[in-house]
Amino acid sequence: MQPLVAEQLRGAFPLEKRKPVVPNLQSVDWTVLDYFGWVHPAGHRGYLVMPLANGELRGLVLRRSQTTSRRRRYEMCSWCNHVHRTNGTAMFSTLVRGTDGRVTIGNAMCRNLDCSLRIRNLCGDPPGYMGETIDLESKVQRLQAAVYQFLYRADVLSDPI
Ligand SMILES: [Zn+2]
Repeated sequence: MQPLVAEQLRGAFPLEKRKPVVPNLQSVDWTVLDYFGWVHPAGHRGYLVMPLANGELRGLVLRRSQTTSRRRRYEMCSWCNHVHRTNGTAMFSTLVRGTDGRVTIGNAMCRNLDCSLRIRNLCGDPPGYMGETIDLESKVQRLQAAVYQFLYRADVLSDPI
């Protein structure tokens, strides 16, 4: 994605009264990112900024709850399909005002919102447990489609892309 500055990232959340605290962007390699995601230092919130095809940005604040488990189990990120070891995912959710009241939508996703690095094997961890044979371009398209779909469900996008 195109490099962004802190002001642009904050501007992607026009409806938020408390603008998100943007992390230090010095060491961000934008060339390997499909979306920009970060987690509040306290760990209870995640932030997502997604570029659209027309160059606009859409931001979404997510509640984050760590799904800690002592049992060994595999967990799959619902956005990038990376299969993690135990505690590699967190539950991210948001409240949506629908016609029949408010509903919470949520997904288990990579706990640090680093799906773009996962699909490129840039995390330093061993690659996912379930090796996939599809190429990177297909993984990028699948990830982008999953994020757009989530933004649409969260009422941040008016049309499904
Ligand atoms: Zn992921």
